[in-house]
Amino acid sequence: KLPPIDGDFYDLSLKLTPEQREIQLKVRNFMEDEVRPIANEYWKKAEFPQQIIPKLATLNIAGIAYKGYGCPEQNFVMEGIIAIEMARVDVSMSTFFGVHSGLAMGSIYLCGSEEQKLEWLPKMQRMEAIGAFGLTEPNVGSAISQGMETTCQRDGDTWILNGQKKWIGNATFADVTIVWAKDVDDKQVKGFLVRKGTPGFSPEKIEDKMALRTVENALITITDCRISESDRLQEANSFKDTAKVLKMTRAGVAWQAVGCARGAYESAVKYCKKREQFGKPIATFQLIQNHLVEMLANLTAMQTLCYRLSELQDEGLLKDEQASLAKVFCSMRTRDVVSRAREVMGGNGILLEHDVARFVADAEAIYSYEGTKEINSLIVGRAITGYSAFV
Ligand code: FAD
Repeated sequence: KLPPIDGDFYDLSLKLTPEQREIQLKVRNFMEDEVRPIANEYWKKAEFPQQIIPKLATLNIAGIAYKGYGCPEQNFVMEGIIAIEMARVDVSMSTFFGVHSGLAMGSIYLCGSEEQKLEWLPKMQRMEAIGAFGLTEPNVGSAISQGMETTCQRDGDTWILNGQKKWIGNATFADVTIVWAKDVDDKQVKGFLVRKGTPGFSPEKIEDKMALRTVENALITITDCRISESDRLQEANSFKDTAKVLKMTRAGVAWQAVGCARGAYESAVKYCKKREQFGKPIATFQLIQNHLVEMLANLTAMQTLCYRLSELQDEGLLKDEQASLAKVFCSMRTRDVVSRAREVMGGNGILLEHDVARFVADAEAIYSYEGTKEINSLIVGRAITGYSAFV
């Protein structure tokens, strides 16, 4: 079952194996049947639909590209296709999933010991345990690699954590939050598995967001929170290890941007064919068609870039600057696509009921998280010139 208007103009789906195509359609049908009918309602309420988690789990797509630990052992192209399918209906749902499957499971997959992977990855894969990822702080966002204020200090077999984390998706209900903190002794960044309900760990929901309203983001206050050495990510020894996780998930955010643009484009095409002015569908007007063509051109450029990006990931060749360039390009182009979608819908473009207003707002969050457009540009600029322009 396919929706009538599909933004996959160059048929990237044909590059998928029959098994991957089946996964794609399974996710598409799930998003259309289970999520689209409730997406605007939960976005408006600014609440995450908890009842969706067991149904989402039946798709068996968490940790899709990871090897072992009960994961489906697909690849990063498949992960990207899933990000498109989710975001083209609801960017919040794809963010919830990206935080769980990418940032949280990915931190354990890339930085955990064998025992930690065995304990967490299978149940997170089945979505019986949900993850969050706490890196950003109230005072330090872009400069987190240098200025992290949350501290950890070893005390025998435990560590004592203090500080605050801001914007942490899923943290209001997550079973485990990966918390990054700077060791007061060796000054290196370390990662911790903080279990739900740990004394001294207090997540508080951030209210009144104007984007990704369905995702529950938290401000977490961490006060003399004791974490055992066995819950310190054993392979995370400096910020370089945190950066490995971010390289992987930034690629996912580029794909997510494509999904956001595609959702807006598809809604706009449908609307333009139905809406009549001067006695004709507005789709018959040349200036409207020009908007649709520019949207589709951007969308196609983004999709094909992302496809190559994940081929590099699958080949183990992806560089930081390649992930950053894709994130910069896709988040910029997505802003352009969603604003044109809103424009061709006239006044109705700002009404939630037509979906596009939600995509316009959500594109703003994509633009800023996982490294802002500026920070990712500086990563690419450094690779081009050899000069770091961060400070
Ligand atoms: P700032 O760092 O204060 O930046 C403000 C502006 O200054 C930006 O435009 C930035 O590009 C610019 N700037 C900063 N430094 C430079 C420079 N050297 N040169 C030029 N310009 C510069 N974080 C998590 O850890 N976990 C999450 O789950 C998570 N989810 C999020 C969800 C949402 C909806 C949002 C909005 C954010 C989320 N974040 C999360 C945080 C996100 O990663 C940060 O917002 C982002 O890194 C930017 O940090 P900041 O908001 O503190 O902006």
